[in-house]
Amino acid sequence: MTIHAGSCHCGAVKFEADVDLSAPVISCNCSHCSRKGFLLSFIPAASFTLKTPDAPLTEYRFNKEHIAHLFCPKCGVEAFARGKHPATGADVVAVNVRSIPGVDLDMLTIKKVDGAKL
Ligand SMILES: [Zn+2]
Repeated sequence: MTIHAGSCHCGAVKFEADVDLSAPVISCNCSHCSRKGFLLSFIPAASFTLKTPDAPLTEYRFNKEHIAHLFCPKCGVEAFARGKHPATGADVVAVNVRSIPGVDLDMLTIKKVDGAKL
C-alpha cells in the first residue's frame, strides 16, 4: 500500500490515493482519453481521498455517461474520474497518474485499451 498525493495544476483539487504504480496503467485511445492524454489507474473508491472536499469540480459525461469525469474549472486538469466497476457495481476511481507529481512516466507499464472501438 502506497499513498500518493496528487493534484490538478493550480492546486484547487488535491487528493491522496493508494495507487500501485508497478501495476499496468491504462492508456485508452477513445475520443476523450486521447484528447486528454490520460494514464489511468483504477482503484476502489475507498482507496481515494479528496483532500479538498469543497473543490469546485466540473463534471463531464459522454457516451453511456457511466463515468463522471471531474475536472478543475480553474486550470482544466482532470486528476480523476468516478465510476462503477462494470462487473461488480462497486464504486471505483480512475486516477490520472499524470496528476501525481514525481512519477517517472517512463517506468510505468502501459496497458493499451482500444476504447475507440468500444
Ligand atoms: Zn486546478
